[in-house]
Amino acid sequence: MVSDLINRDSVSWDPGKVRQCFDWNSSRNILSMELPSNLKDDFLYWKYHPSGRYSVKTGYYFLSRNQMMNDSPLSTKDERFAKLIWSLNIQPKWKIFLWKLLYDGIAVKVNLVNRGIAVDATCDVCGLELEDSQHLFRFCSLAKYVWDNSPMTVCCDITGFQSLRSWIQHFILLFYSEDGRHSTRIIWFIENLWGLWTARNTKVFKGIGVTTATVVELVNLALKDHEVFNEEDKTRDMGGIEARREPTLPPGFNHVDGSWDKASTRAGIGWAFICPNQADTNDGGGKYGTAFSALQCEAWACLEALKWANRQGKEEVLVLSDSVLLLENLRSNQGKEISIAWLIEDIRVIALNFRKCSIIKVTREQVQRANDIANTCRCTLSNLVL
Ligand SMILES: [Zn+2]
Repeated sequence: MVSDLINRDSVSWDPGKVRQCFDWNSSRNILSMELPSNLKDDFLYWKYHPSGRYSVKTGYYFLSRNQMMNDSPLSTKDERFAKLIWSLNIQPKWKIFLWKLLYDGIAVKVNLVNRGIAVDATCDVCGLELEDSQHLFRFCSLAKYVWDNSPMTVCCDITGFQSLRSWIQHFILLFYSEDGRHSTRIIWFIENLWGLWTARNTKVFKGIGVTTATVVELVNLALKDHEVFNEEDKTRDMGGIEARREPTLPPGFNHVDGSWDKASTRAGIGWAFICPNQADTNDGGGKYGTAFSALQCEAWACLEALKWANRQGKEEVLVLSDSVLLLENLRSNQGKEISIAWLIEDIRVIALNFRKCSIIKVTREQVQRANDIANTCRCTLSNLVL
């Protein structure tokens, strides 16, 4: 039984027993897994998603991830293109939309039929051809109208582009090479595709007839949407600069950080306690061990720092960590990553001992001293008590 491999007194794996039962690599993985600090009931979880929860979304994630892995690997050109799309200053929904178009994962009728959904695959807009993505975005009469009347010279039936993907790539890369990253033509191009898609959805889902005027209106609406997003983005950027400034700190705060080596799973953690009024205080500590991931290492550092502050009788504590993932896991009700569920629970429990306990995200530089301690502990396999 698994419990036979655990030393209950020290709440740790028994390395000797684990190594007797498993090969070297499996042992290393097992020994780096977190353990709950007290007895817990077993529970079922879905192993194909970090959250451990099964839902339609996480099931879909598993299936699409597998599909991606079975697909032929991306060529360098495709990879460059994907990076370009991701770096554009456009709404996330447009990025995902483009991504779906490139992998022909958009829910046009022919794709639905291919997935076994019984629908009439005729194009609702023209009623003449089957609605696959090439037809809808290039060859349908509505698409031709949109491209013919846009200020870009985009030719729908340009030869040499068998797939919608290569056609889209061709134009976006062309505009990028001529106008650079802030190309207005790239935005126009995407908003035409988006306008065609929303026009088609208006027809299919609301039964409203689609004319050339409707699609022009929808394209203009997409442009306005983009402009609003861009404005908000600029404000967000300025907010970011504000937020990066040193926060106001309550008396006594803890910098925590972890240091982790993936190949050996060896981990070190460190925490540095600083009193704002006594800048030269040099309190803190560090430990070494093994961890399954960098995130687990960060969570462990946070927990040990809180335990230490608790032992020192601190009543109010502010923990600074540079791990955004740790913060996300603490914020989410059930935790997001099943692999650190026990650590997150322990952090929550110990936090209740303080009158005030906050954990905030800071930059890497702000946790430099904790990081130095963590590195030293990991490399020298020693614990540090200051
Ligand atoms: Zn059509």
